[in-house]
Amino acid sequence: MSNLEKEPLELVCPPDATRTLAVQVLTPREVPLGGPRAMNVRRTLPQRGRTTIGAWCFADHYGPDDVAATGGMVVPPHPHTGLQTVSWLFEGEIEHRDSTGSHELVRPGEVNLMTAGRGISHSEVSTPETARLHGVQLWVALPDASRNVLPFFEHAETTPIAIDDATVRVFAGSLPGAGHDPDHGSSVAVFSPLVGAQVELPAGGEAWIDLDPAFEHGVLVDRGPVRVTIAALDDEADDGTGGADPLAVAGHAETLEWSELGYLPAGHEGVRLTAADAPVRVLLLGGEPFGEEIVMWWNFIGRNHEEVAEFRRQWQADVIGRDNPDGRFGTVGGYDGAALPAPELPTVRLKPRH
Ligand code: MN
Repeated sequence: MSNLEKEPLELVCPPDATRTLAVQVLTPREVPLGGPRAMNVRRTLPQRGRTTIGAWCFADHYGPDDVAATGGMVVPPHPHTGLQTVSWLFEGEIEHRDSTGSHELVRPGEVNLMTAGRGISHSEVSTPETARLHGVQLWVALPDASRNVLPFFEHAETTPIAIDDATVRVFAGSLPGAGHDPDHGSSVAVFSPLVGAQVELPAGGEAWIDLDPAFEHGVLVDRGPVRVTIAALDDEADDGTGGADPLAVAGHAETLEWSELGYLPAGHEGVRLTAADAPVRVLLLGGEPFGEEIVMWWNFIGRNHEEVAEFRRQWQADVIGRDNPDGRFGTVGGYDGAALPAPELPTVRLKPRH
């Protein structure tokens, strides 16, 4: 979907510095999606102190939303650059159209990944049949070497796999030990080492999920609470007590509540997820630390202010001004309505946030 904040800040995002070896709890902020009966989303990325987890750079969690009350999702054509969008639903249905000519219905359990590359535009509207809308919108930053690829759209079903008590659906990238198995990884294109997966547990259930130690991870809670436990690194566990439980090291276990994002630093070979007396549903997002400074503003990702300003100029001239339907962002066919104009650029260039 689109970032519909009226005055989006330009975020200069240097690579995040990991300050902790422990689980860090990131709380969401409410952001209205705009429109007269605005849907609110809960944004956990980007936020102060944490702008990326691997290449994941944007996480909006929304619903369950009573569409009769909120009007559901109506996001007119808008642009993206330098990123991929991942649409993942728990309930409801969204109709996607984009400037590559893709027209697809987004449904629960199916991944819809749009690679914006050098530029794309798309619209997203919940279908008339949708009574409740509930899902996440995620963005993946493209590394410099891939960020100017031609845009394309992919739609794929996911296959549930059982890990201990958990049912896991990998919707992007792969989990360790399962990457070579086409049933256990996702077929959609990614441009840096990463994983995106849904993990569900029944009430009282528990699972140990193997992780790639080179990845940092986030656990985004749709249904909770969930107890998250990571094993301590070898040097931390060596506390002189000999047989101490490495999982008992302080800070390596946290209980995450609904819509919180737990950050797990790199260096861990697995995570234990434990449900209390209610079922659990989380998204596990991970990847190698991104390591590139990016500039995020509105729906664009670039590498500096001038580049983002030029993306905005082209969107306003080519699409809003209707000067060039074959420009960078093309045209969304079949959408009944006008495209979204870009907000004004901020007058102040922000300094990198540390
Ligand atoms: Mn979008």
